[in-house]
Amino acid sequence: MILDIHTHHPAPDSEAIISIVPDKFCPLEGQLYSVGIHPWSISEMTDGTLSRLEELAQRPDVVAIGETGFDMTHENPAPMFRQINIFRHHVMLSESLHKPLIIHDVKMHDVILSLYKELGPSQPWIIHGFRNKLSVLQMFERLNGDINASEPSGIYFSFGARFNADTLRACPLSRILAETDESPLSIREIIASLSAARDMDLLPLVADNTARILRR
Ligand SMILES: [Zn+2]
Repeated sequence: MILDIHTHHPAPDSEAIISIVPDKFCPLEGQLYSVGIHPWSISEMTDGTLSRLEELAQRPDVVAIGETGFDMTHENPAPMFRQINIFRHHVMLSESLHKPLIIHDVKMHDVILSLYKELGPSQPWIIHGFRNKLSVLQMFERLNGDINASEPSGIYFSFGARFNADTLRACPLSRILAETDESPLSIREIIASLSAARDMDLLPLVADNTARILRR
């Protein structure tokens, strides 16, 4: 059962998808992964990084693409056009391989919204580490308006150790995912704190939502 859609914890972790950059991928038998070029590591890319990403993305143990996304607040950020080009590349892989996309979004909601509208992806887009206020959730949620809830497409929100409780309480149950990311807490501790804020046991729901988007 997968509960943790996004972690940087070391393998093995049978309940998690471990996020890794292409140049550091050394798979452990039975572990599930996502592979992508983090916006912070764009500056460390070599000539072979993109082709390595493409090759790894096809592996059956790589069940999601990313994390990829946008961050201009980190020191020495890659230029925006470059972050967009790299992101588009990940979307193309996600769509052609039918694997969900895991997105790192630091105050770049508008860019993600406009790319979503332009590209019309059929794969789920997961905004990881979602700790934004309610109005940001609502902005993304509008895109989910006409998606049939039984389809695993649309935007999902992955909540971690830090989250806005009002936003979590307003999030449609079918759109909630959970993650540890870099937190030292376990995924079950994080789901327990999300559950307390939502006043219901979110564990079975997180497991169901995760299984649905991973089609497992
Ligand atoms: Zn991360």
